Amino acid sequence: MVDLIIIGGGPAGLTAGLYATRGGLKDVIMFEKGMPGGAITQSSEVENYPGYCEPVTGMELMECWPKQAMRFGLRHEMKEVSRVVRECDGTFTIQLADGSQERGKAVIVATGTTPKKAGFEGEEEFFGRGVSTCATCDGFFYKDQEVAVLGGGDTALEEALYLAKIASKVYLIHRRESFRAAPSTVERVKKNPKIELILNATVKRAYGDEMGLQGVIIEQEGREIDLKVPGLFVFVGSIVNTQVLKQEDGGYLCELNERGEIVVDLKMRTSVPGLYGCGDVRADSARQVVCAAGDGATAAVDVIHYIEKIGELKPC
Ligand code: FAD
Ligand code: NAP
Repeated sequence: MVDLIIIGGGPAGLTAGLYATRGGLKDVIMFEKGMPGGAITQSSEVENYPGYCEPVTGMELMECWPKQAMRFGLRHEMKEVSRVVRECDGTFTIQLADGSQERGKAVIVATGTTPKKAGFEGEEEFFGRGVSTCATCDGFFYKDQEVAVLGGGDTALEEALYLAKIASKVYLIHRRESFRAAPSTVERVKKNPKIELILNATVKRAYGDEMGLQGVIIEQEGREIDLKVPGLFVFVGSIVNTQVLKQEDGGYLCELNERGEIVVDLKMRTSVPGLYGCGDVRADSARQVVCAAGDGATAAVDVIHYIEKIGELKPC
């Protein structure tokens, strides 16, 4: 039985691991299904993390976080968690996708979010073959070619700006006239001569052949436009990763809000003692790296008190 199990190795999970181990917890495991770093490693430009005078890539920002946390004893296991179950003595069993299990006195869920699909015809078929959700990963394939971006939030606009540095032209397709993104980002997009806005428009269909995407059919105010682009970047929001809390009976281990986010208090405590939610997965998150890191620290500090308080475990 370990003291603490952290699920997710993004900014929230890594900071929780740093504070928990540096704060004296002896046995802390972080399960991260991929490489630690989280969603921000997909970002080509971060300019709002405090302490950095110049923009950095998400990869650069996160480079030292795992190393720093592991210096104080955080154990990272590259495994996917399937489910968190609460036992009758108040401890938790973590079921892993490989069939193994781990027991912990407390659990921090820091599983973040996953990019949403837009739902147009051909999106699945050409995913990874022209349709992408990561400009940093795939942008370079379209050097000096025309590409399209779908979405009107911060991610879509920031990644359109990034792609404009590589591609010969970027078509930004958005279903409304106004944008959700920060006004300063909208201004930069509007001023960029390589970005053409296609507003009040949706992608109806992606088409291509066995080599990959050749274009997209767009519907704009009743007419169809055939945009011949080999790359379409879809940034239409995200799904909250709370699957690990789903129980055998179909219910969730703790309270979620109407958007499926984990409801927490100011100490990141969920409705279940010993279970915490941090970062993008929790309700009312500002969905920023700095906030996720803050949540991780807040939760870890409370976990230390919680473990002290429960003392020796009572049998069921
Ligand atoms: P995440 O970073 O999403 O980490 C969650 C981790 O949990 C992932 O690594 C995932 O693999 C893991 N995981 C999920 N499920 C399981 C499971 N079942 N088992 C094991 N591991 C699991 N924020 C800013 O502050 N500034 C920016 O400029 C900015 N730009 C962004 C640009 C892009 C393209 C994107 C996508 C996001 C951007 N954000 C930005 C938002 C920022 O990335 C997030 O707010 C932040 O990463 C949230 O951290 P987190 O630790 O809560 O979750
Ligand atoms: P988002 O803010 O939810 O925006 C999603 C966009 O996609 C919206 O413009 C939406 O249109 C559009 N959309 C949704 N479904 C669609 C569909 N099926 N077809 C076409 N368009 C569709 O998502 P996000 O941009 O990924 O941002 C998520 C969070 O991370 C936000 O809180 C954001 O502020 C944060 N973030 C911050 C930064 C930063 O601080 N620099 C960078 C990236 C992300 P409507 O507008 O019409 O709904």
